Amino acid sequence: MISHLNSAIRHRIEQATSADSTMCWTCSSCDSECPVEIATNRLRPQRIVRLANLGLFEELIASPEIWYCLTCRRCNRVCPNSVKPETLVRYARTAAVRCGVVSYDAARSYYDLFRRFQRVRWHAVHHCLHRESQPINDARWHSWLNTPIPDSTAGISSQNLFRGNQPFRHEAKGADMSSCFTCGECSSACPVAGERSAFDPRFIFRMVNLGLAEELLRSPSIWLCVQCGRCTEACPQLVDGCRMIASLRELAVREGKVDEGFPLRVRDAQKQIYQRLIDEIDKLLGLQPGRENLPACPIPIAECV
Ligand code: SF4
Ligand code: SF4
Ligand code: SF4
Ligand code: SF4
Repeated sequence: MISHLNSAIRHRIEQATSADSTMCWTCSSCDSECPVEIATNRLRPQRIVRLANLGLFEELIASPEIWYCLTCRRCNRVCPNSVKPETLVRYARTAAVRCGVVSYDAARSYYDLFRRFQRVRWHAVHHCLHRESQPINDARWHSWLNTPIPDSTAGISSQNLFRGNQPFRHEAKGADMSSCFTCGECSSACPVAGERSAFDPRFIFRMVNLGLAEELLRSPSIWLCVQCGRCTEACPQLVDGCRMIASLRELAVREGKVDEGFPLRVRDAQKQIYQRLIDEIDKLLGLQPGRENLPACPIPIAECV
């Protein structure tokens, strides 16, 4: 049963976030949509909503799960009741740092780890494209984490330009790519564009407009997109970047740029590297579920939520 105090805190959390947590009817659609949950079974956005709904502020900000999230907002988009788990995640992270559950230094290291994790994802896909499927062990993880991505424009000359075939041009037209004026709003909104050499939607869209079809369809980068749609929402020119990247993947499969076993290898690699990321986050932040992480605080919770 929710106590009076918890109800008050729930109300305060809702006031601070406008996440509409009370509208949650526990359908689990957000869990099924979450890419981290799909890969690892370790992040349930529904649980984050539940903590907020019960007014369990301390448990919420001490939860390791809030740091596993990519902030992709797929949970927000899929929710039939417009609940916004990702908004709660961002709120809880800020509160966790403010309350000393996670130090500033640890938070900074976390964001650096998350940025370099995009390198790992790129290298993993690159290996899958070359039909490698060895387990991602310690040595590999650290090597990929510390190895910058090679320049993808090396070797491109004017002869490579405007080579996109009819299906490529058709998809570009469908996504309204020619309206792009390279403002970069999509890259700023993209949750996985922290390491631009690994993945940068604006760069991909520029390549589309330059007709660099072959280079794009063979690029590991197009497989790093988590299909969250944030680039599309952010674009002032109504370019549908999310759709364009989905189309590039379909074309890569249809035109035989990737082999039949590639999707399965990528799925296996994703599972391994997301699991590893979570283990690294646990090591870095040292959080345990529950209240054990909470520093002693003289301020009553109701005054600081
Ligand atoms: S999708 Fe929405 S209603 Fe369903 S469990 Fe998630 S937050 Fe609750
Ligand atoms: S924002 Fe993305 S990663 Fe985070 S909980 Fe929602 S779906 Fe999962
Ligand atoms: S936000 Fe839109 S216009 Fe700006 S770079 Fe991205 S796709 Fe182009
Ligand atoms: S859909 Fe857009 S914002 Fe989302 S991951 Fe892909 S490129 Fe980034």
